[in-house]
Amino acid sequence: MRLPFWGTQPDGSGHTRENMDMTNVAPENDRGLAGQTIYVSGAGAGIGRAIAEALGAAGANLALFDLDAAAMEAVAGPLLGQGLRVSCHTGDVACAADVHTAIEQAVQLHKRLDGAVNNAGIVGASADVLDYPAEVFSRVLDVNVLGVLHGMQAQLGVMKRQGSGAIVNIASAAAIIGWAGHSAYVASKHAVVGLTKTAALEYAAQGIRINAVCPAFIYTDLTAGLFQTPGVHDAAVANHPIGRLGQPREVAEAVMWLLSDRSSFAVGSSLVVDGASTID
Ligand code: NAD
Repeated sequence: MRLPFWGTQPDGSGHTRENMDMTNVAPENDRGLAGQTIYVSGAGAGIGRAIAEALGAAGANLALFDLDAAAMEAVAGPLLGQGLRVSCHTGDVACAADVHTAIEQAVQLHKRLDGAVNNAGIVGASADVLDYPAEVFSRVLDVNVLGVLHGMQAQLGVMKRQGSGAIVNIASAAAIIGWAGHSAYVASKHAVVGLTKTAALEYAAQGIRINAVCPAFIYTDLTAGLFQTPGVHDAAVANHPIGRLGQPREVAEAVMWLLSDRSSFAVGSSLVVDGASTID
C-alpha cells in the first residue's frame, strides 16, 4: 500500500489542527465538522470525491482511500491548498488488510477518527439472474458488502476507544426496490442497509452513530457506463418524478448531515436521496 501524506510531516511540522487557517470556511458550511478527521473510501471520483470536497469546504481533515491512487491524489491536491491535513491510502476495500492498514495509518497520522464514509462500490454486470456470471456476483458482494464490513470493523475499533464516532455507509435506492438486470448490485445494497441497521443497534449505546444513505441515479462515472446503452438515460430520468437525475453534491449534503452532530438522534436510518424514484 502506497501512502503519500501531505499537510503534517511525520516530524510534526506543517499544518496541525491548532494552526489550520479556517478563514476560508464560510459560516453556512459550519456544521461542527471543522478540525474533525473523516475517512472516505472511493474518494477518487463521483460521490466519494464530492463528499471529500464538501468535507474539505467544511474544514474537516481527511483520510482518503481508493484503488486509483492518481485520481485520489488529484482530489487531495486542492484540499491541501485549503490548509487541511489530508492523507491518501491506496487499496481495495474488498481486502481486509488494505482497509485495516489504511485506518491504522490514518489514525497514526491524524491521531483520531471522528467519522467515516464507506462509499466505494461497483455496479457489476448487466444480466438477468439466469445468466448472471457468478464470479462477477461474488466480486460485487466482496466490494459492496465485505468492503463496508471491513471498513466498519477497522473504524469501530478506533471509535470504541474514543467513545464517539459517526459512520455513513453508502447504499442505494437499489437497497429499497429491485432493478432488473442488476441482481448482484441490488442484493449487495440490501445487505448494506441490513448491516448498517445491525451495527447501529450494537454500537448506539457506545456513542457511535451508524447510518446509510440511499441515492437514486446520480451523474458519475458509474452511471456514465450504464448510460452508454441507448435509452437507459431517458428511462432513468422518467423514473424520477423530480424530472432529473441527481448530482454527487446532493448526496454529499446528506452525508455531511449524518456525520455532523446536527443528526444526533439519527441512528440506523437509511436516508433516501432519490428524487421520489422509490416512492411507488
Ligand atoms: P464511481 O465509479 O464514480 O466512483 C467510485 C470510486 O470508488 C472510484 O474512485 C473507484 O476507483 C473507487 N473504487 C471502486 N472500487 C473500489 C475498491 N474495490 N476499493 C477502493 N476503491 C474503489 O462511483 P459512484 O457513482 O461515485 O458510486 C459511489 C457509491 O455510491 C457506490 O457505493 C455506489 O454503489 C453508490 N451509488 C451510486 C449511485 C449512482 O447513481 N452513481 C446511486 C446509488 C448509490
